[in-house]
Order: sequence, then structure tokens, then C-alpha cells
Amino acid sequence: MAAIMLIGIWTAHAAAAEPDPEQKISAFEAALSRSPGDRQAVRALAVLYHQRAAEYAQVQEWPAAIAQAEKAAQLLPSERQFADALAVLYNNYGVALQAGGDTEQAIAYFERGLRYSPGQLPLQKNMAVAYVDAARAAFEKKEYARSESLLQRARGYDVESVSVYVLSGEIFYARDDLYNAQAAWEKALARDPNFPGLSERLRKLEQEKKRESNYRTRESGNFRIKFEAMEKQGLAEAVLDFLRQAYRDIGREYNCYPGDTITVIIYPAPAFRQWAEFPDWAAGVYDGKIRLSDDAMDNPVRMREILAHEYTHALIYTLAGAKVPLWVQEGLAEYSARQFRQVEARRQRRQLLFSAARQGSLLDFADLAEGDLRLVAGYPREKINLMYAQSESMCDFMIQRLGIYRIREVLESAGKGKPFADAFAYVCGRELAEEIAQWRRSLDEP
Ligand SMILES: [Zn+2]
Repeated sequence: MAAIMLIGIWTAHAAAAEPDPEQKISAFEAALSRSPGDRQAVRALAVLYHQRAAEYAQVQEWPAAIAQAEKAAQLLPSERQFADALAVLYNNYGVALQAGGDTEQAIAYFERGLRYSPGQLPLQKNMAVAYVDAARAAFEKKEYARSESLLQRARGYDVESVSVYVLSGEIFYARDDLYNAQAAWEKALARDPNFPGLSERLRKLEQEKKRESNYRTRESGNFRIKFEAMEKQGLAEAVLDFLRQAYRDIGREYNCYPGDTITVIIYPAPAFRQWAEFPDWAAGVYDGKIRLSDDAMDNPVRMREILAHEYTHALIYTLAGAKVPLWVQEGLAEYSARQFRQVEARRQRRQLLFSAARQGSLLDFADLAEGDLRLVAGYPREKINLMYAQSESMCDFMIQRLGIYRIREVLESAGKGKPFADAFAYVCGRELAEEIAQWRRSLDEP
């Protein structure tokens, strides 16, 4: 739902505006300070302020327009026309603020607008849109409780908002409450059968519910582990132990400690692979939940490597949402996983990277920026390996030169909507393309 800008109310007044209103305004202000009870002067001055506001509104100088309209409304508080005009200006300034990404200020102005014109439907709708935006931002930071209370407020302004039901379902889903997620999404779909992607989501959720209906759950600290059978209890404990360590250690590196519970599901290998969404070379995946294949978990070294990788995805998502190039997501995840990788695997990866550099067959980072792993899954195995090796190497290069705290700042800035390369240039004071070129040159050094 798009925010609604209100315009019609101004046209007539703007056309009637005097050529030199400033002089007239000063004259009436002076008259009024001499005799404050002069009703005629009060009215004339209010109209002048109102007209001045209309002029500013025409060129969308909202704060200036608001300042004038507020003076008019103060002079004649009972005059409906001035109150309505002020409400329209608050609304329009709020819409402009929201378009610029300042949802909090937008909400403050919609609130003021509603105080002057309580029944104004577009203002209520805009308020709901703003609260849903704020709720989505909180959701992406995994602040589910806060997101829920913001949605509650959105509901207060627009009970029928489809976006509210959709996001509400996402919160339930992230908390692994599949039944309530389904109920919320079904309500959304009943209101808007064409909501993008929603029926597909419901279909997947139905499958997931069926598959996981007899799973056991083990919960501790910030993690909820789901697994299939009793004999996997030991594995679940080992996964939980490691994740608690990752929460502390990788969390310290990124100074990021998600407040809400993260769901981790361990699937039997065949079930994990059957699920078409997973690339079959992967042993784990992060899509808001960490999903793992149990066969890869049997080797404790490999288990740590996979969990460090997937948990880093969860942190990146917490800091930046999905607004990070694929090679950065995978590169940082691999950077965390590297310390748990076996020596031979590390050696192979270096070899792959340096021979690609020699042969000029390195991948273009621009091609690794868009999309998700499902696209990469169509690559030949060798190319997938190179993608991971290259992404890790580039992220390592940036971390050595800039420090991980800077990378964290870049992630946060990208999460607020800056394109990644802009966020990088803004935080680090250098161009990403130049950084990549230097990394490329570093591969030629002995
Ligand atoms: Zn990954």
C-alpha cells in the first residue's frame, strides 16, 4: 500500500495569493500588537498566513508551510478550514519524510495531523503504512516482540491492512509457530488473493508442517533445536553447545547479539536433499532459520565449520537484512568458518583461487552480487567452489585492511537502504571497485 499525498485543498488559495504578502503580514502583525482584540485584523492575518502556507505547499516546502499554517490555526483555533489545512500539511510532510526513510518522524507528523483532523482516512492509512514499515525494520533486526507491538499499532489505524497479516505471519513463522503463521497468511490471502508470493509460501509451510510434525524440540538460551528422532538427541546437544559458543564468539566480533530465539532444524539427509529449495551440495542453509543435514553433522570438525558459517548468516541478516551482495554474505560466513576447516581443505581452496587467478578465470564480483544460492546451485561444482573461495578471500582482505568493526558499519548502513558499494565508500572512505582491484593484484604477489 502506497502512502497518500493530499493536494486539492490548496489550489484555490494559491491562485488568490497577493503579490507581496510579507509586507501585508508585517502591517497586520504590527496592528495586532497595538490592539490585540481587533477581530478583523486577526481574521485578515490568519488568512494571510494560510495563503503563505499554500505558496510553500505548492513548492513542497513542508516545514515552512507548516510554520505558517500553524500560525493561522493558532489565531483562529475554531476555524475548521485552518485545522484541516494543517492536517493536510502534516500528512504531506509525513509522507515525504517516510519516502526519505525517516519513519519515526513520519509517524510523529501523522499523529499531529490526526490531532487536528481525527477522522481523516488517508492519514489513518498512512499511519498504518508507517507502523508496518517500522514493524518490518524491527522484524529484520530480529526484534520480534517490538515488531509485534508496532503491528498492533498499525492494526489500530487500519484493521483490514493485508501487510499487517503478512508480517504477523512472518513473525510467527520466524518463531517457528507454524500454526499461527498459517492462520495469519490465510487471512492475508483471503483479503488479497494476488499478494505476491503468498500462496507459494503457504504451500511450503503446509509441507514443512507435515514434515516436522513429529520432531522433538530442545530449547536453550537463544536457540531452539528441532530434530527428528531420539537417537539424534546427542547431536542436537552438540549443535546447541557449539551455537552457544558461536553466539558469544562470533557475536563479539560483530558486536551483535540477536535478542530473539533462533530456530535450528536438523533434517535427516534424504529429507534435507528432497526439499528442492536446497542446493544438493549444501550441508546447511540459512533462510531465517538454520536448516542442517544430519549426515554432515556426524563429523565434529565439519559440524563446527557449517554452524559457524550458518550462524554468521544469521548475524549478517540481523545487521543488514537481505540487502547485502551474495558474495559478501557467503564470504563473511566462510571467513568465520575458516578457523574450523581442516588443513587439507584450506590448502585446496588456496590452490583453486591462485590457479583461477593465474588462468584469468576468476569470477566477476558483479555477477556474484545479485540473487541467492538457488541461482548459484545451477553452477558446475568447480565454479561453486571458486565462488566461495573468492568471496572468502575478498572478505578476508577487507577485514585485514579495515577491521571487522568497519565491515559491521558497512553492513548496518546497507541495511538502512544504501547500496552496498555506496555504504562501503561512505564508511571506509574508499571505493569498493578499487578495493577489489587491489585484492586482485594481491593474488599476483608471491
Ligand atoms: Zn552460506
